[in-house]
Amino acid sequence: MVFYCELTTGTRKVGSPYKRFKDSLKSSLTACSIPQREWESIASDRCAWHLAVHQGVDTFEENRRDNLDHKWQARKERRPDPRATGKCPVCGRKCASAFGLCSHLKCH
Ligand SMILES: [Zn+2]
Repeated sequence: MVFYCELTTGTRKVGSPYKRFKDSLKSSLTACSIPQREWESIASDRCAWHLAVHQGVDTFEENRRDNLDHKWQARKERRPDPRATGKCPVCGRKCASAFGLCSHLKCH
């Protein structure tokens, strides 16, 4: 009953089916690299389950940090270089600082 009933909290996209506890469990297993078809047999062995969960969480955390680093690098590369011209590429206005240029770019 726990696996197939609907969750009382949470959001879903418009038109998508209600999320069940089972769906949430599947997404968590996928995120932790635990095979969905074997999780019940793994969970029956407490030591194997402990090992699988800890390895999965470590892998998930490592991937999450890598993704954050990639996003941070991409964001840094998109920023205009403050030591460059400091000129707005849209209207040509010259700004004294990088922060001022970033603020000015928001108005475009
Ligand atoms: Zn401008």
